[in-house]
Amino acid sequence: RTRTSDELIRAEEPVLAHNYHPLPVVVARAEGAWVEDVEGRRYLDMLAGYSALNFGHRHPALIEAAHHQLDRLTLTSRAFHSDRLAEFAERLTALTGQDMVLPMNTGAEAVESGIKVARKWAYEVKGVPADRATIVVAADNFHGRTTTIVGFSTDETARSGFGPFAPGFRIVPYNDLAALEAALDETTAAVLIEPVQGEAGVIVPDDGYLTGVRELTRRAGCLFLADEIQSGLGRTGRTLAVDHEDVVPDVVLLGKALGGGIVPVSAVVGRREVLGVLRPGEHGSTFGGNPLSAAVGTAVVGLLETGEFQRRAAELGAVLREGLAELAGRGVVGFRSRGLWAGVDVDPAIGTGREIGERLMREGVLVKDTHGSTIRLAPPLTITEGELRSALASLEKVLAA
Ligand code: PLP
Repeated sequence: RTRTSDELIRAEEPVLAHNYHPLPVVVARAEGAWVEDVEGRRYLDMLAGYSALNFGHRHPALIEAAHHQLDRLTLTSRAFHSDRLAEFAERLTALTGQDMVLPMNTGAEAVESGIKVARKWAYEVKGVPADRATIVVAADNFHGRTTTIVGFSTDETARSGFGPFAPGFRIVPYNDLAALEAALDETTAAVLIEPVQGEAGVIVPDDGYLTGVRELTRRAGCLFLADEIQSGLGRTGRTLAVDHEDVVPDVVLLGKALGGGIVPVSAVVGRREVLGVLRPGEHGSTFGGNPLSAAVGTAVVGLLETGEFQRRAAELGAVLREGLAELAGRGVVGFRSRGLWAGVDVDPAIGTGREIGERLMREGVLVKDTHGSTIRLAPPLTITEGELRSALASLEKVLAA
């Protein structure tokens, strides 16, 4: 007998670490923008795996690439070459306008790798004295969960109890160029920021901020590391969020959607002068760049090369924005959006983000709250306009109830 949703939720309790508080839905199948639970109830997925499912669940081209690769070769380790890695790197660098790729697996690993590369560059190229390199980050950042990364978080829930932390980070307010300029000095290896802050509630900086970061880092002779793990790969209506200002960072961190929702794939892509500092033995990963990941990642790049998904995100993003604007004052007290991605602040009198999420779940729509009364909307870029409008109608109903 297969267990019911309630039974499965109860069964998890004693045997799984409680580092998450999922909505009480147990997903068993999914296709496109829809997921189905154990009992066969269907839900529109308005979270899309925190943008890991930009192309929807089980996109046929990605599933085909994975199947094809599963039948031939899945892992070599980087002790040997595989016949899949060259093409992945060639096409990913072409897509992002960069020179080289360092393939990793998860987002946090890409961030850690970016930090390592930036520090090594600072010592070898910029000439910062040994162990003095600093990296400037933004308040309210989210870059992952490793001890180094949570050490420069400003979210006490993420940090508290996990110290001692690695030194060498300076925190400045986001979207504040004067504060950033004041934090840069001869020890600065890099500025690491999210071009749109995702977990903070989809915080879109002012026009000109990314251009300003590029300008200040160039002048200070340090690197600009853009964490595009959540914002990149079509989500905002362009391939990368920095493309909105035609800014080219020295290093771009990618993850989530790069694995097509099938396997964890992340990458540090950057200029040859930067990634070129790594020599054999100095960094690595058993699974990084494995043939299955490379095959799926190449298929993801193939989807983005058409421009179709970036276009959809831009067009449907306008529909999302309009729909949210209509709800302003009717339960929505504020929202921010870029492309098919929005942070929506709900009137706290109506409910917490969690409560809104639970009510939307009962309407057949899955979202995730962030802090307090903010929910974020990031559906698969394959969602239809009709489906998006129906999700907005569900939100309207829940806010009015
Ligand atoms: N960087 C950003 C901007 C993210 O949004 C996330 C995850 O939400 C990460 C890094 C960490 O990625 P992962 O969970 O794959 O380690």
